[in-house]
Amino acid sequence: MKILHNHPLISYNYFKVHALAHELILIEREEDYAELINRTGFNKIPFLILGDGSNILFTRDFEGTCIKTGLSDISTIKENEEYAWLRIEAGMNWHSLVIKTIEMGLQGLENLSLIPGTVGAAPVQNIGAYGVEIKQFIDQVEALDLKGGEVFLFNARDCEFEYRSSIFKNRYKNRFFIKSITLQLNKKPSFNISYDKIQDTLGLLNLKEINAKNISDAVIYIRESKLPDPAKIGNAGSFFKNPIIDKTDFEGLKAEFPRIPSYQVDKFNYKIPAAWLIEECGWKGKRIGDAGVNPSQPLVLVNMGSASGKDILRLSERIKKDVAQKFGIELQPEVNII
Ligand SMILES: Cc1cc2nc3c(=O)[nH]c(=O)nc-3n(C[C@H](O)[C@H](O)[C@H](O)COP(=O)(O)OP(=O)(O)OC[C@H]3O[C@@H](n4cnc5c(N)ncnc54)[C@H](O)[C@@H]3O)c2cc1C
Repeated sequence: MKILHNHPLISYNYFKVHALAHELILIEREEDYAELINRTGFNKIPFLILGDGSNILFTRDFEGTCIKTGLSDISTIKENEEYAWLRIEAGMNWHSLVIKTIEMGLQGLENLSLIPGTVGAAPVQNIGAYGVEIKQFIDQVEALDLKGGEVFLFNARDCEFEYRSSIFKNRYKNRFFIKSITLQLNKKPSFNISYDKIQDTLGLLNLKEINAKNISDAVIYIRESKLPDPAKIGNAGSFFKNPIIDKTDFEGLKAEFPRIPSYQVDKFNYKIPAAWLIEECGWKGKRIGDAGVNPSQPLVLVNMGSASGKDILRLSERIKKDVAQKFGIELQPEVNII
């Protein structure tokens, strides 16, 4: 394993803000996990588990130990006529995994194409897009307890998956290091093209056959046309979660703001697009210094140059305050703020 001291984290976060890690440990071999756990005084240090940093905002230096794995093996552990079970190590790039599974003739992940980051981070916030969430395919999550040193297997129910959340983002945040995940993928496809945008794009691109590759291509096309490229402009995708409010609150808001868009989650709850709330508060395309709100997708906050993590946090707080004042809704960050 590689140990780096006072190491800059600018290339480890998609917002491209400056911060230092007191210590950065890079896992390079399976045995490194045991070496990590056996370090003297190890379980007294504050930890930060890092993937690719596509969902983290550093507002300060990290005074403890950042840990990141580079292990990225993939193997088929069993299969039958209907399903294949793949075990994938945490360091693999998520999108490479999606493409690989499509090449293997497996179906399930195509709607999750081009989501940045690593396989290990995917269960943490139950990544999702276009009507699909990773929880639908999780068979097991293998995680190392950084406090006790033991390895545990979590099944999907243990993970307590919710919208952009799991036990690893809440109770066990920075406690369990996800080493690998096992996904159960379909050999007999069952596609989800319920989002109009996917159907429209399949048509636009003249992709006539409904298959995993064509859906993936459509999703890639939509994402590339809608979201700022983090390689060119620092951002972490959606900064806030879409708020879920109950029926009574929703009806009150609908009476006051008849154009409010919504999606009924269940009998009692409605999801409101945070992007709409932010736009209605006049923030779309605005900036404070180098911290800005993306002009085409206002849910995405961007670093237009040399914004610090604190600048971006301040902007997010101004937006939160305005949304709360106008709509009485408390936006929650989707991004992990350090
Ligand atoms: C342009 C853009 C678009 C995006 N679109 C989407 C989208 O459509 N849907 C969606 O759900 N997300 C989206 N995201 C957010 C992001 O891609 C996901 O949250 C992704 O899973 C983060 O992966 P990462 O490796 O970069 O994790 P990081 O940002 O490094 O970490 C995220 C969190 O996971 C924890 N973590 C990371 N690795 C591990 C591990 N091995 N074990 C335990 N904890 C770990 C970290 O401590 C942190 O709390 C987008 C981001 C960007 C920049």
